Amino acid sequence: MKKCTVQMVADAVSRLAPRRLAEEWDNPGLLVGEPSNEVKKIFVCLDVLEENISQAIELDTQIIVAHHPLIFHAIKNVRADLPLGKKISRLIKNNLAVFAAHTNLDIVAGGVNDILAEKIGLVDVKNFGDEEFSMGRLGTLETPMTAEDFARHVKKVLNADNVRLVSAGDFPIKKVGLCGGAGAEFIQKAKFFGAQAFVTGDVKYHEAQAAVENKIHVVDAGHFATEFPIVHVLAEYLRDELKNFDVEIFEDTTSKDFFATI
Ligand SMILES: [Zn+2]
Repeated sequence: MKKCTVQMVADAVSRLAPRRLAEEWDNPGLLVGEPSNEVKKIFVCLDVLEENISQAIELDTQIIVAHHPLIFHAIKNVRADLPLGKKISRLIKNNLAVFAAHTNLDIVAGGVNDILAEKIGLVDVKNFGDEEFSMGRLGTLETPMTAEDFARHVKKVLNADNVRLVSAGDFPIKKVGLCGGAGAEFIQKAKFFGAQAFVTGDVKYHEAQAAVENKIHVVDAGHFATEFPIVHVLAEYLRDELKNFDVEIFEDTTSKDFFATI
């Protein structure tokens, strides 16, 4: 079995989700760690949470592969008495690297948005218009559904605690637009390309209002539920991509949405 390094894990993720596909404002890539360090175990998760760092340490992993970048905005200090500094300090003390694939993983074929479309059971899934790379997707339901039935369906397939439905009237859904995470900015674009509904997370009041006025239903299934399915897909990808290396891949199965409905 060949020896694996932090750089080799980074390269493997980048073969799936090339960095050049990331949005300009994004910060994917190797955020903490030494590229030449040996990796025997990998931990895959959505967010680099304290709990995930603890799990990664307990499992004796050498790198965390995450969707959301741990370091996003420029930082001016690494104070171990503040949440981000504490995480960075723990990672460095434990020789634990962090690699993130964010919007590049949203955009790429087979990434966050395609997995979301697959979970929802959409067929004929495409990018918006003739865009070569796009954030969201458009697809078709094999059987048209009412807005309420569709909302229930999305809740079930994404294993979400709850979903919020913005009903824009009494018309069925055949074509669906979607964007995992916070994708409300693409609602009107989806409507323009013929969608009767849009699935995303983090929808605000006035975005819901605009959707109603534009006659497109919105299902807000939450940022977490629309993106978490990528964790297993990414772990499976790495298991296959690194199968000739002496490396074991673990995935986060315990994280939950920060939001609870009371
Ligand atoms: Zn996200």
